[in-house]
This record gives sequence, structure tokens and C-alpha cells, in this order.
Amino acid sequence: MKPKSVIVVGAGIGGIVAATHLAQRGLHVTVVEKNSRPGGRCDRLSRDGHHFDTGPTLLVMPLLYEAEFRALGTSMHEALDLQRVDPTYHLVFDDGSQLALTSDLKSMQAQLESMQPGSFQGFLRYLREGDQHYQLGMEKLVNRDFRAASDFFTFNNLSLLFRLKPLVNHYRNMSAYFEDPRLKAAFTFQDVYMGLSPFEAPATFSMMSYTELAHGVFYPKGGMYSVTEALMKLARAAGVDFIFNSPVERIDVNAMHARGVDLSDGRRLEADVILANADLPYVYQNLLPHDGITKKLERKRFSCSVISFFWGIDKTYGTLGPHTLFLASDYRENFERIIRDLGLPANPSLYVHAPARLDPSMSPPGQDTLIAIVPVGHMSENGEQDWREIRDEARQHVFCRLATLGITDVESHIKFEVNYSPLSWRKRYNLVKGSTHGLSHTLTQLAYFRPHNRHPRYKNLYFVGASTHPGTGMPTAMVSGRLAARRIIDELGMEE
Ligand SMILES: Cc1cc2nc3c(=O)[nH]c(=O)nc-3n(C[C@H](O)[C@H](O)[C@H](O)COP(=O)(O)OP(=O)(O)OC[C@H]3O[C@@H](n4cnc5c(N)ncnc54)[C@H](O)[C@@H]3O)c2cc1C
Repeated sequence: MKPKSVIVVGAGIGGIVAATHLAQRGLHVTVVEKNSRPGGRCDRLSRDGHHFDTGPTLLVMPLLYEAEFRALGTSMHEALDLQRVDPTYHLVFDDGSQLALTSDLKSMQAQLESMQPGSFQGFLRYLREGDQHYQLGMEKLVNRDFRAASDFFTFNNLSLLFRLKPLVNHYRNMSAYFEDPRLKAAFTFQDVYMGLSPFEAPATFSMMSYTELAHGVFYPKGGMYSVTEALMKLARAAGVDFIFNSPVERIDVNAMHARGVDLSDGRRLEADVILANADLPYVYQNLLPHDGITKKLERKRFSCSVISFFWGIDKTYGTLGPHTLFLASDYRENFERIIRDLGLPANPSLYVHAPARLDPSMSPPGQDTLIAIVPVGHMSENGEQDWREIRDEARQHVFCRLATLGITDVESHIKFEVNYSPLSWRKRYNLVKGSTHGLSHTLTQLAYFRPHNRHPRYKNLYFVGASTHPGTGMPTAMVSGRLAARRIIDELGMEE
């Protein structure tokens, strides 16, 4: 019998993973990607011997990676050459104080007690809460597929309202553990990874800082793009076909079904199942006939964006750690400016990554490769934001922050610069509003309330990726790929 066929729109992490699971089950899978490379947001830029991860730079939640590589028939350690990064980040505060986040409890105790006497006990209690949130969050929310309301609204799940603190504000919850605003910031800034402000995020997200310290942050040799490469190896071994440089212009549907896709070069491909990995709001806006859901999605909250600088440097800054985070003292104002005003804060928190500290092959000998990321608002409806001006301001902020560490000459040692603004994110990966993490992760856009893996009307059209369940992030994109593939297999009536 001819195997059932699947077209995947987009070779992002979720798309590659779903394609691999489906091909391993004997389906004929073709992935159609608009860009010349796979990986989507997990992308790489190489120039003159400098290598930049343009999207993800942190391998967090290693237990999820382990489980997902296992589900694909291999092991994370076989697929990736990993080193643990410890201290994970060097945090630098406006008053000049620093905190190296580490799993070494003795070092944490000394550092925390010097910032706020008595805070180490608060830290241990916070970790215990993070542990509970992580275990429950993975079991009850992330690894679950909510196909019907009855999968989510169960008596058992009622207790999650207390145990996961979804209705408690994350930042406010920090007062139970710390008084010093620097410490409240040190263990909530990870909410930005969800595109959220800690002042609106549920306290559930304490799981993020917990997993970084308890399970570790890792760095794969060759950078995060080697995750894309490892997944591509598995996909090709399973027999997945890839077509690059081929934007899909339209998903052809009738009343109840998707029939195929039309490519921008005039070609048409047909399949039994279509799986869209391109960002879900973009698919509704651009590839499908508009309907009530398109309108609803327009009203949804989108995550923030970032301005990224990629610098090839003609000298080495050996004192700069691999991951440095500058946290502004006007922490709340930072998030309000980004999320409410869609702008650049007057004194932004920002992140600098020096990958050659972890893998010298990321820059030529005696030189450096630097990535600076400055969170900003996503694109506004009225297109008022002047991204050139914002970018130039953001660049100056990075130089000023580095100067506080005694690094005052970066500007004069830059051999070349590439930068991305929200406009670039939209153009490169079709991210609506240039929002780097897709739909935001507010309570009403999480779990059962996040768009599901299947279209409610077109029964053979499925979705995978950051704006679907379970949400943004590399490991969650892998989970999303597995869940979407599982659902397709179930609904095609293929037994395990
Ligand atoms: C700056 C930044 C930093 C990040 N940092 C981290 C981090 O440190 N750790 C972490 O875990 N996660 C991080 N993330 C998040 C992570 O990268 C994403 O959540 C994840 O990669 C999303 O995968 P996805 O499956 O949604 O696919 P996407 O990356 O959205 O890929 C979708 C693919 O579809 C393609 N496509 C779009 N439209 C079409 C079309 N019409 N036709 C054909 N193809 C199309 C796109 O080109 C793209 O290749 C970061 C993201 C960004 C942007």
C-alpha cells in the first residue's frame, strides 16, 4: 500500500522533529522551507572565521532534550558534544555588584549572604518551589496534549491552581524569598525567555531559574546550531525529503480539508496531511482563507522582540564570561517600556554572549566573536517605531554596559557588524510583528488555551512550533514536534 504523505511547511526545530517521527513511522514526508537552510530561529551566521548563533544561545532544560532525543531513537550525548556552563551567567547590576549564578551551593551562599544577609535560606526555599513547579509543570502541562477540554478541565488539575501558583504574580511571589531587588531580578529575568515580564508572568515560571541551577545550562560544541545539524541528521536518516528556497504561498483548502500547498515558484504539492511549522499566527494571516480565528489571533498578546548585534572583533576579551547579563535597577520600568509601550527602555537590561569562551573555534585565534541582545517591544500596528534610531541607541547602551566591566574599546575593534531588528525577524522567519517568541505565554494563552496542534475545521491540517502548545524554546519545540506527530499518527489510525 502507498504510504500516506505529509507536507511540513517550515524546517524549524518543531518541523524537523515532527517530520522525523512521522518518517520513522513509515510516512512519506516532505519539508518545504522558504530559507536556504534548516533550523528556523535556531540559525547560524558565519563570516571571516567568526560563527554566531543568531537565535538561541542557551541549552536549557537538558532533561527535556534527553527525553526528546531518546524518543527519536538516539541519546542527547550521542547527538551533541556538550559541556556544562557553570557559572551559567554573570549578572552585573547597575550599582556595580555582581552575582555569578552557579550550582556550587557554597559559592551561592557566600555571594547571596553578602548581598542580603539571610537570603541563602530564601534561595533554598525558592529552589524547592521551583522543583515542585518544574516536576508538575512537565508532567501536567508541557508533556500533555490537550486535544479536548476534558483533557484539561479535570478534578485533578484543579489542585494545580494551588500547587503551580498560576494565579500568583511571579515578581510579587519573590517577596516570600528575598527582599533585595537585585535578587528578585536575578531569579525572575528568565521570564523574558517566554517573552513575558515577571510583573505579569505566573509564579509557575520559577521552574526556569530552578532548572538552570539544578539541571544545568549546557553548550554544544559548534554552538546551538549543532542542535539543528544533529536533528537534520536524524531526519535524513529517517528518509525525510527537504526542499529549500521555496516559500509556501498558500495552503489549499476546501470546506473541511487541506489538499496541498502552492509554492511561490508556481509549483503545487499535494499530500494526505499538511503540518504547518511556520509561526501559527502567520499561517492564519497569510496562508489560509481568513476566518473568525484569524480575527481572534489578531487580538492575542505577542511576546517581545530583540535587537541583536553580531560583532567580529579583532582582539580577545578574555575577562568577559560566556554569558553576561546586565540587569537594570529600574527593572519594572524596563518591562513596562518593552511590553506596554513597545519601545526600548531608557536604561535597558541586556545580554552579551562570548561563545569563544566555551568553544575557541567560534572565532579566529586572537580574535573574538560577540553577540549582544537587547530586548525591545514588538512591532506596533501603526509602524511608528524608527528601528534605525532604536538600534543605534541600543548599540550605545551595549558599549556603556561593557564599559562598566572595564571593556571600553569594543567599538574601535569591531571588524564587522551584522544586526537584526524586529523587521529582520519578520522578514527572515515570517514572525508576526517581529515577535521573537511568537504568541506570548500569559495564563490565557497557555496549556489548553494555547492554539492546539490541529486546525479546528480542516481535519488534516496540523500545527507545530513556538506559538502552539507547549510554547517557545528549543526543547519545547521538540516536544511540540513529538505531540503533533503523535496526533497525526493517531488520527490516521496508525497503531503504535
Ligand atoms: C533571539 C532568540 C533567542 C532565543 N534564545 C533561546 C535560547 O537561548 N534557548 C532556547 O531554548 N530557545 C531560544 N529561543 C527560542 C527558540 O529559538 C524557538 O522557540 C524555536 O527555535 C522555535 O522553533 P519552531 O519549531 O517554532 O520553528 P521556527 O524557528 O519558527 O521555524 C519555522 C520555519 O518556517 C519557515 N517558514 C516560515 N514561513 C514559511 C513559508 N511561507 N514557506 C516555507 N517556510 C516557511 C521559516 O523560515 C522557519 O525556518 C530564542 C529565539 C530567538 C529568536
